[in-house]
Amino acid sequence: MSSLSGMGALDGRVALVTGGGRGLGRAVAQALAERGAAVAVGARSTEEVDSVAGELREAGYSATSVPLDVSDPASVENAVRRVADELGTVDILVNNAGVVWPLGMLLKVDADEWEQSIDINLTGAVRCIRAVLPGMLERGFGRIVNMSSGAAAGPGMPAASAYSVGKAGLDMVTANLADELSGSGVCINGVRPGVVDTSMQDYMRSLPREQVGAAFYNKFHGLHERGELSGPGPAAQLIVLLASSDRTGQTLDVRDEETKQLIDGIA
Ligand code: NAP
Repeated sequence: MSSLSGMGALDGRVALVTGGGRGLGRAVAQALAERGAAVAVGARSTEEVDSVAGELREAGYSATSVPLDVSDPASVENAVRRVADELGTVDILVNNAGVVWPLGMLLKVDADEWEQSIDINLTGAVRCIRAVLPGMLERGFGRIVNMSSGAAAGPGMPAASAYSVGKAGLDMVTANLADELSGSGVCINGVRPGVVDTSMQDYMRSLPREQVGAAFYNKFHGLHERGELSGPGPAAQLIVLLASSDRTGQTLDVRDEETKQLIDGIA
């Protein structure tokens, strides 16, 4: 563990963080840069990713930003090519881009939005994996971390069937590919970040009780009112750890005791 705790555990590595313009992705980009990785941040809001990359460069890190829509295959290919041109081929992929919509009962939410949600949260992550995996296999090294959610466990998040299904599917991508990639030098894991104070949570609290139902409304308003939302730090540190180790095939929840101890070990 001590070899991971020093600065520079990721020296010479190139990381791509999808959805890196704000929230969890932004914190992950910062944490990876602090450990020595050259970091590319991608999302649709170019001003946000430009701003994150600019701040990292100002702090003395190697960073760039790329326009990226994970639901568009051409955009994913272009982004990965641009990162290769600007920083080098991607060694570390953090599949963090995600949307929580559509929220509401299945028969009330828009059918196209339901499919788009899966296309971003699940298929989008697989698209990004497909784009970087050949290079990782060629070099015999790669680290992939999928941003999961507590919504992937048990019955999932109320009023969020698309999100829950997409994240549960993403956990299966992690488990299935870990098996397929065993012995290749490419490791793949998932992280459940807890309930984190980001614009996604703001959006979830902005919806009326009649749309999301009492269970959802009370849970997320309650957490906010009691000051129980967490910061992105533990998830970001856990992702640094997974990018620096040869663990594979696990989806870890930052709230689990064992995982907390792991994170404390590198903090
Ligand atoms: P956020 O603040 O809304 O950030 C989401 C990021 O994903 C943004 O940068 C967004 O940028 C990007 N994104 C969305 N659709 C995209 C697309 N089609 N292509 C590329 N980028 C896209 O949310 P967050 O809370 O930081 O969430 C980050 C991840 O953590 C998500 O996967 C989320 O499901 C997961 N998570 C969050 C929580 C929580 O409590 N916050 C809990 C569990 C899991 P653009 O819109 O500009 O593209």
